[in-house]
Amino acid sequence: MISCLIKGGRVIDPARQLDQVADIWIDQGRIKAVEPNLSPPEAPQALDAQGLWVLPGLIDMHVHLREPGQEHKEDLQSGLTAAVAGGFTTVLAMPNTSPPLDSAPLITGLLARAQEIAGARLCLAATMTRGRQGKELSEYQDLRAAGAKAVTDDGSWVADSQVMRRILDYAQVFGLLPLSHAQDPILAAGGAIIEGRMSARLGLPGIPAQAEEIAIFRDLALVELTGQPLHICHVSTQQGVGLIRAARAKGLPVSAETAPHYLFLTEEAVGEYNSAAKMNPPLGTKADREALREALKDGTISVIATDHAPHSILDKEVEFIDAAFGITGLETSLPLALELAREIDLPIPRLVELMSRNPARLLGLPGGSLAPGGPADITIVDPELEFIYEAKKGFSKGLNTPFEGRKFRGRAVLTLVGGEIRYRWPNLTRQSQACL
Ligand SMILES: [Zn+2]
Repeated sequence: MISCLIKGGRVIDPARQLDQVADIWIDQGRIKAVEPNLSPPEAPQALDAQGLWVLPGLIDMHVHLREPGQEHKEDLQSGLTAAVAGGFTTVLAMPNTSPPLDSAPLITGLLARAQEIAGARLCLAATMTRGRQGKELSEYQDLRAAGAKAVTDDGSWVADSQVMRRILDYAQVFGLLPLSHAQDPILAAGGAIIEGRMSARLGLPGIPAQAEEIAIFRDLALVELTGQPLHICHVSTQQGVGLIRAARAKGLPVSAETAPHYLFLTEEAVGEYNSAAKMNPPLGTKADREALREALKDGTISVIATDHAPHSILDKEVEFIDAAFGITGLETSLPLALELAREIDLPIPRLVELMSRNPARLLGLPGGSLAPGGPADITIVDPELEFIYEAKKGFSKGLNTPFEGRKFRGRAVLTLVGGEIRYRWPNLTRQSQACL
């Protein structure tokens, strides 16, 4: 089993209000102690983390790993490896695979396969409804017993309000967090980018921001009716932010996430039909971007998740209107978040809450903190390391990113899962010794 000492890093653990230079003693894959100047009796191998940040392992609660059914786009091996390279120790994979994850054997099988991969831990969301058809509820009790942590028909909104009401009630009974892809499918139908100036200029069919607003409004009304929790995925509009802020002020049990691309890019990124900037929900206006940044600051949005959506080149290098929605995100999320923190003065402990502690709490996962006794899931960040992002040098099969060639400062340089080094930045020179 794995034992080591991470020495002299800046340890940031908001769950314990810790932000200080300290050592972390890892014993048998778990955190044994976090204190300055530790000297464990057995003197395990040491890892010098001076000048680096030592964070609870990051958790991405919205990824598409495409297995089963579309392994040419991504599979568990490539996806979970890309995750640790991006600093994530746990990911929550969405169930809109082929077939969709709506049965216990599918969940059990994928979780077992993930055990054999030296990447991030895999958590799974099962479908909210059988076959993602939006009509009958999936078997929540069986899915929970098989290990599912959440339910969602992500990719589609459950438009039937009676069905959604029952989902909220049942998900709570079985300890599954419901996640809503809040977008009115009929209003959004046929759209390629946000409806507005850019869609008019390019002559592309638009998706009105109101498609998100209507869906969030309905979802929140049902949260109020049932009193049960709901998590809203990839919020992208100022209208959506406003509704969630008001609901939270009323005390409704609603949480929300946004993705890094909405915090940086606007509809302008589509430029001259650049399909790398085509995603759903679509990129919004500058006002949307500012509202999302504000929502992170005031806690309206409590999670940053990637919505990592890898596609093959063939899916993207076609006419814009026919190109697939979505971008990869696992290997750019943390560098973008670090850039954002500098731009808007977001304290790093707050960033750790958004990318580790809050997703852990929402999903009831053991990580999200560096408390002794917990799993040694740890992300070590070099905040000053500069690099130029090239998707093809990464681990995801998806090369579909609008951030190709971007110069970043700060990234994960070591990612430990259960005390084992699962990712190491190849040009790492400052570490004296490895754990293993
Ligand atoms: Zn979605």
